[in-house]
Amino acid sequence: MRQSKIFIPTLREQIETDSRSHGMMLRSGMIKQTAAGVYSYLPMAKKVLNNIEAIIREEMENIDSIEVQMPILQPKELWQESKRWDDYGAELMRLNDRHGRDFALGPTHEEVITSLVRDELKSYKKLPITLFQIQSKFRDEIRPRYGLLRGREFIMKDAYSFHIDEASLSETYDNMYHAYYKIFKRVGLNVRAVKADSGAIGGDYTHEFMALADIGEDTICFDPESDYAANIETAIPMNEPLSHQGEEKPLERVETPNVKKSIEVAQFLDVSIEDMSKTLVVKYEVDNELKYAMFILRGDHELNEIFAMRALNVKSIKMASEDEVKSLFGATFGSLGPVEVDHMPIYVDDAIRGHQHIATGANVDGYHYINVSIDRDIKDPIYGHYRFIQQGEYAEGSKSPVEFVEGIEVGQVFKLGTKYSSSMKAEVLNDQGRSVPMIMGCYGIGVSRTLAAVIEQHMTEDSLVWPKSITPYDVHIILPNMKDSETTQYAFELYKSLKQNGYNVLIDDRNERAGVKFNDADLIGIPLRITIGRGYKSGVVEFTNRLKLHESPEMNKQEIKIEH
Ligand code: ATP
Ligand code: MG
Ligand code: MG
Ligand code: MG
Repeated sequence: MRQSKIFIPTLREQIETDSRSHGMMLRSGMIKQTAAGVYSYLPMAKKVLNNIEAIIREEMENIDSIEVQMPILQPKELWQESKRWDDYGAELMRLNDRHGRDFALGPTHEEVITSLVRDELKSYKKLPITLFQIQSKFRDEIRPRYGLLRGREFIMKDAYSFHIDEASLSETYDNMYHAYYKIFKRVGLNVRAVKADSGAIGGDYTHEFMALADIGEDTICFDPESDYAANIETAIPMNEPLSHQGEEKPLERVETPNVKKSIEVAQFLDVSIEDMSKTLVVKYEVDNELKYAMFILRGDHELNEIFAMRALNVKSIKMASEDEVKSLFGATFGSLGPVEVDHMPIYVDDAIRGHQHIATGANVDGYHYINVSIDRDIKDPIYGHYRFIQQGEYAEGSKSPVEFVEGIEVGQVFKLGTKYSSSMKAEVLNDQGRSVPMIMGCYGIGVSRTLAAVIEQHMTEDSLVWPKSITPYDVHIILPNMKDSETTQYAFELYKSLKQNGYNVLIDDRNERAGVKFNDADLIGIPLRITIGRGYKSGVVEFTNRLKLHESPEMNKQEIKIEH
């Protein structure tokens, strides 16, 4: 490909962005933002995405996972069957058609696939089956950020498997797990699989694949001595630091200097329900009784649902709807009314990631505590039991004290069980002729997020070097001086002959200064570079293996003698 013909709008200067990969993708002309969290992929990014997708397709087919394509536009009725029309919350992008019918833009496809399979498969003899697709997903993230790492429209590979029994599910789960390792290794990502929390999606067995990177929004808690690795959300500290080790105590009201009435606290925190990004109202069941809890979140984190489940010690929670919030808290959006007796509000301050300050719990008087310091203000908090593990502690299952490292969640595999097949009645006849719900698994890879994660791991401040397996071009020919007809002619001959030999070649034939060309080439990131410049006259061209550039820049720059 001739660079003069292609569209790579590189930027000359450094720009301020929220993450390295985001900055690199903008500077190297790979993406262009259209709206918050919504991007166009320009030619270089598109080529790399194609390459990543090809690797994913290959590894999926190796484990008998078959490609399909499901609709992005999904009717409300399907989401009502699984109850997720109400439960999914504000992340679900909703819209109407001209007849006023409700639809969602798919954030994930459990509903669609379950309805598809239930209508087509009636006997256990057709199982197991695994289907996958690669497609744009939509999630109205509270805080889209870091470029492609957290978009509102992003590309995902999602696979779903259907089984007659647990053993069959386990087999597919293991195959997926190993295929994921292969995929990430092949695209050049350093990842670690960790035990994870199943969160709101349901099911109880799941691993996340974490690409190690400082920008990662997840904290991996790992044991340097053994295989133990878990998302910090899931890791259970072995030693409770408080007197009541591990033992659960009912919440008691404790008089402390920091007790305030909820309304005062709300004013103090300057929170209104209108600001739903900071306020989480959830419902949950205890002994068949529906309860509500309000969390007011300060600090910058995403783990609210999981935190809520932990703090409440329940396995599942649902978001309260706007109407419920209004009627419960006697408030219209924009003001916070006094919190009712039963609706235990919990104020969370920096509770995530193991910080010390969590203000928690209300008692029957509608009081709660802020700025709690354990052992100073509160003798018997629920905090101790649900806190996040600290670096240097033992986790349940670790052999030595754990360490922390940041990671980007690039994939996740789930055993879903019958959550969707039961509620949506996806049943088959078993070998005794009885109708039973299918057992399901689901498996996601963030394809566009993987692209950004690869960049995080393969860039330095001003340069990028694509892993060979996904590079947009194999070889970059640079012509520092287009006015020199001799070198130009030679470069185009070389270009042709490399192409004839099966190489994917980009040739910089633009009328630009040499400095501009080299800067751009560093950003574009092609691993092998051939520079045909002044040395040509004395029979020398310069060959650079940029894959090894960081190891030894001089050794990997070679001058190659050529014959005229
Ligand atoms: P996160 O915890 O980062 O919000 P998730 O757990 O909600 O991700 P899943 O439902 O597990 O995401 O979706 C499967 C994969 O899709 C994730 O592992 C991730 O790689 C990718 N993904 C999820 N949300 C986004 C997003 N907003 N932008 C880009 N990729 C995403
Ligand atoms: Mg999410
Ligand atoms: Mg997650
Ligand atoms: Mg996930």
